Amino acid sequence: MKIETKCIQSGYTPKNGEARVVPIAQSTTFKYETSEDMGKLFDLEAAGFFYTRLANPTLDAVEKKIADLEGGVGAMLTSSGQAASLTVVTNICKCGDHIICSSAVYGGTFNLFAKTMKDLGIDCTFVASDVSEEELNNSFRENTKLVFTESVTNPSLDVADIEMFARCAHAHGVPLCVDNTFPTPINLRPFEWGADLIIHSTSKYMDGHAVALGGVVVDSGNFDWNNGKFPMLTEPDESYHGLVYTESFGKAAFITKARTHIMRDMGPQQSPMNAFLLNLGLETLFLRMPRHCENAMAVAEYLENNDKVEWVNYPSLKSSKYYDLVQKYMPNGTCGVVSFGVKGGRKAAEELMKNFKLAAIVTHVADARTCCLHPASATHRQMTDEQLKACGIEPNMIRFSVGIENKEDIIADLRQAFEKI
Ligand SMILES: *Cc1c(COP(=O)(O)O)cnc(C)c1O
Repeated sequence: MKIETKCIQSGYTPKNGEARVVPIAQSTTFKYETSEDMGKLFDLEAAGFFYTRLANPTLDAVEKKIADLEGGVGAMLTSSGQAASLTVVTNICKCGDHIICSSAVYGGTFNLFAKTMKDLGIDCTFVASDVSEEELNNSFRENTKLVFTESVTNPSLDVADIEMFARCAHAHGVPLCVDNTFPTPINLRPFEWGADLIIHSTSKYMDGHAVALGGVVVDSGNFDWNNGKFPMLTEPDESYHGLVYTESFGKAAFITKARTHIMRDMGPQQSPMNAFLLNLGLETLFLRMPRHCENAMAVAEYLENNDKVEWVNYPSLKSSKYYDLVQKYMPNGTCGVVSFGVKGGRKAAEELMKNFKLAAIVTHVADARTCCLHPASATHRQMTDEQLKACGIEPNMIRFSVGIENKEDIIADLRQAFEKI
């Protein structure tokens, strides 16, 4: 099936007389005839539902749909995008291990890796988004277990050379995880370029209406864990009577362990109601993404021709330093987020923010409604100027998340806001 059809059809096929739409299984638990039936589930000998912290029919349908959209062997929903990143790292790293991450990743991911993971004994080396292959190769250590990057970074909109990241990761026997939140599988499918794992904050375009917080981890099934670096996947797990994930679950070893170990022990599960709402968003993802991209391009071109604007950053623009990478990886569009610098520095940016009428000031991005944010005074305020610069954030930068309204109305709002400064 083509991706549009997958958005609508994948993940759930009702049997005779069953609900046409994925039902909300708003139940923490599931009933069995015998203890033996349930015991098989606990021993991972049979598949089924017993407790929603581990699996739930509504979540299961949505997970299958997202796995299909990305072209993976399996997916696991999480309570948020943060929980998805946490799951990927803790599923294969323990105290004493090391990961490599591009420094322009989402602020929450940066904090998670720079502080919280470090406190837990998992060290992270940050590299520039446009790091050279040589420098990236030199960042690996004996104990490196993962490379993590964002396909299009939030908010600096850097574009990752996924093939290069994958090549380096594989040369050192570790997987590449790509946060594909901004392009979504409509615009980019990182597994086709060598990535091994994908995470999303489904709170963004996938939901698309800003109603349900959520995340997802997707496993390509392509990474060979049998290289001595990942004993947690290739050696017996005592909490399951000595089961070996790679032997019992083959290509789905990583995603099965993410559920049966990390979700079991840490519990960042998505609610069935949120999964239901996410599924509604997914059904129109292929209609919304091209519109976001078309509107964002019009906004970016308007800003480029505005003499109160110091710079415009939109990866699909010809003037972007990522233009060539975009033509390779995302020729049909990147995302709906545009950033720009207002002439006059931090103060001018703060002034402009006060004048928007249609564009709302919210921390969120990537939903149907146009919204905006001044990161230096909001999401990134904990960061030092040095860290801000390392993330590619200028004090006068405004992140403008272009919605799917009529683009003339969005540009009119920008025009009237600029006229007042
Ligand atoms: C928002 C976001 C996250 C974090 O997701 P939450 O759902 O807010 O926890 C991670 N990565 C990217 C690229 C994001 O935009």
